[in-house]
Amino acid sequence: MSDFAGKVAIVTGAGSGIGEAIAKRLLAGGARVALVDIQADRVQAVAARFDPSGASTLAVTADVSDARAVEEMVAQTLTRFGALHVAVNNAGFTGQVGVNTGEYAPEEWRRVLATNLDGIFHGLRFELPAIQASGGGAIVNMTSAAGLVGVEGEPAYVASKHGIVGLTRAAALEYATKGVRINAIAPGFIATPDVLAMPAKERGAVAALHPMGRMGEPHEVAELTAFLLSDRASFITGSVHVIDGGYSAR
Ligand code: NAD
Repeated sequence: MSDFAGKVAIVTGAGSGIGEAIAKRLLAGGARVALVDIQADRVQAVAARFDPSGASTLAVTADVSDARAVEEMVAQTLTRFGALHVAVNNAGFTGQVGVNTGEYAPEEWRRVLATNLDGIFHGLRFELPAIQASGGGAIVNMTSAAGLVGVEGEPAYVASKHGIVGLTRAAALEYATKGVRINAIAPGFIATPDVLAMPAKERGAVAALHPMGRMGEPHEVAELTAFLLSDRASFITGSVHVIDGGYSAR
């Protein structure tokens, strides 16, 4: 499907898991893609695997918690491809788990919020003007089922993912008539490398949390992302799109 022919995309956290699958899907749709990750070797390997010629990819090493690095990420994309039409602010991590709020370390709180929430703000701040200057487009921010319901023992992750929902809605209102649609995706557990590295028993228990009896696959999240970024979603902005095998329907 050539739904992104002529389009330029940024995907953060593209060195692994969901971001990697999204970059693959956008490239398959004809986009030129800046793949961004804090881990240089990972993102370079993924970019080289998807596009050995390097004609359609740019591997960028950036820490999304660093505003200046994100500014540079957008600048590099514009220099290389001459425009920006779609962006996926996906980089994030869970941080410490199994620690209740009363015992949660402030340093860990700051570390998780810095990437998961500040990182999305930095992305929006530099992507929005670039997309507008390129004639308009769309953005997807990656939240989580934990952005819609509480989960015990990971307060920073839950708060950061709820924050993404609010920021997505606020920005969507601001840009609703300015040519940029902004939505969020809330996945349940997805079979990414970290999740698959859990002991088999734990994996089974996690799969059973979803009424469909399994985890999601990265390509399933990538397909929803591609839809929301494409013109097929032309009347969709400011909304959170759940993809969780029924997890939040209970
Ligand atoms: P992953 O660990 O497989 O990939 C995340 C990538 O982001 C990694 O390559 C990592 O190096 C990169 N990254 C981390 N911090 C960064 C930073 N500060 N700057 C730039 N890059 C950074 O994880 P994933 O499971 O693919 O998760 C992607 C997103 O999806 C995250 O925001 C996560 O919270 C969300 N999510 C994942 C699941 C799941 O079950 N896997 C469920 C719901 C939401």
